[in-house]
Amino acid sequence: MTYRMLIGGDWVEGERGTYPIVNPATEQEVGGAPEASAAQAVAATEAAAAAFPAWSRTPPESRAALLAKAADAVRGATEQHSIAFPPAEIPTTPLAPGALMGAVVERRPVGVVACITPYNFPAVNCAGKIGPALAMGNTVVIKPAPQDPLAVIRLVEVFDEVGFPPGVVNIITGSGPEVGEAIVASPHTDMVSFTGSTGVGQAIGSVAGGGMKRLLLELGGKGAALVFDDADLKKVIPQLVSTWAFHSGQICTAPTRVIAHRDVYEHLLAGMAQAAGHLKVGDPTEKDTVVGPVITETHRDRVQSMIDAGKAAGASVRAGGDLPDIDTGYYIAPTLLADCKPDADAVQQEFFGPVVVALPFDDEDEAVALANDTEFGLYDYVFSSDSGRAMRVARQLRSGNVGLNTLQRHHEAAFGGMKQSGVGRDGGSFGLHAYSEMQSIIWPS
Ligand code: NAD
Repeated sequence: MTYRMLIGGDWVEGERGTYPIVNPATEQEVGGAPEASAAQAVAATEAAAAAFPAWSRTPPESRAALLAKAADAVRGATEQHSIAFPPAEIPTTPLAPGALMGAVVERRPVGVVACITPYNFPAVNCAGKIGPALAMGNTVVIKPAPQDPLAVIRLVEVFDEVGFPPGVVNIITGSGPEVGEAIVASPHTDMVSFTGSTGVGQAIGSVAGGGMKRLLLELGGKGAALVFDDADLKKVIPQLVSTWAFHSGQICTAPTRVIAHRDVYEHLLAGMAQAAGHLKVGDPTEKDTVVGPVITETHRDRVQSMIDAGKAAGASVRAGGDLPDIDTGYYIAPTLLADCKPDADAVQQEFFGPVVVALPFDDEDEAVALANDTEFGLYDYVFSSDSGRAMRVARQLRSGNVGLNTLQRHHEAAFGGMKQSGVGRDGGSFGLHAYSEMQSIIWPS
């Protein structure tokens, strides 16, 4: 199957040919993705800019109708945001005579939004950006991750088929960072909505800042799960075990640092280690597989070398620790590292694989201090049967999101990170806010 890119309504091939996309479970090539040139990346932003004036003036209902054709899920997100203020008495100033002044504050689209996404949720992550961006009246240039862009190309084909006007939705793919860099730097790009690693987010931020481009940055995480001594371990353990299984641990919001009260620490770790032994690692197309591969050979080697470094630094291995005995595919054994020093790399750095580190604590203040002792602040969790304590602790966590006794999500809640985990919020109607700018209109009434 041939995959192409959508630029200004035309499906085009990459000017630099194609590059192979590899199934990490089988190491087989599944297709070739277009290798765009930097000039094509800029052309996509230019097409989006040309389409912006007409698209941003379409009634929200028309945009909603088109989006609903592509995905029913965005139907509820199309209310126009407008806040009217009662007349205010303003005294005479050297600027103007006094008057009763009326005002309305309205949300306007930002313009051309570059949607740059990571490999771990290729289609879902794109959908979460382009839905609210288009609903708000922006045009978009999508740049999926190099490892798995084919599903995103299919998604854009759907948008094209349901009738989005030329230039409103564009997609650019490429194996290296050049096309992403060209899109960010393009003078046509007004906003960058980026999900990915903190390092790349910082690089994008420094370029975008020079052009005063709006930013939504959803970056890395090293989530803490604070397990208090009154937590119901029978319910906690299966949830923490899911960290190894769900996307093989390649999840920014996963509780990869288990911080447990010393009275339950060993019991909790023993339960997790026992569960790890029952998780089948292997080809995800086999029904009984629970832990699939990580995305590439390079990433597998990186994660394993971080595990080895953790072991060398004195971590005690309670589960996994060595490469599984599988000939083909890029697999990591579900690994539990305990008794690390709080400042150890294993505790501080994101593995982005099926690896959990554990630390004990003695009291609530220490638990909060350990949880906050990280450059990240994306998603933490508190497990306790005392809901008053759980809420009190949550409010002290420097983390954009906190789950109490659950790893479940609420899709209307704002989503985003504190500290190095990002800038800005989306989620539910906050997504519309993220992809808009406020304009105030005032008049004497
Ligand atoms: P990555 O940062 O390596 O790549 C993300 C995207 O940025 C890719 O499309 C890549 O091609 C592009 N890119 C790379 N260099 C660029 C540059 N200089 N300019 C513009 N674009 C550039 O991330 P990844 O390895 O695909 O994903 C894993 C990371 O994503 C982890 O750190 C994870 O925590 C994070 N993540 C965060 C969230 C969140 O919501 N906060 C969600 C998923 C993943």
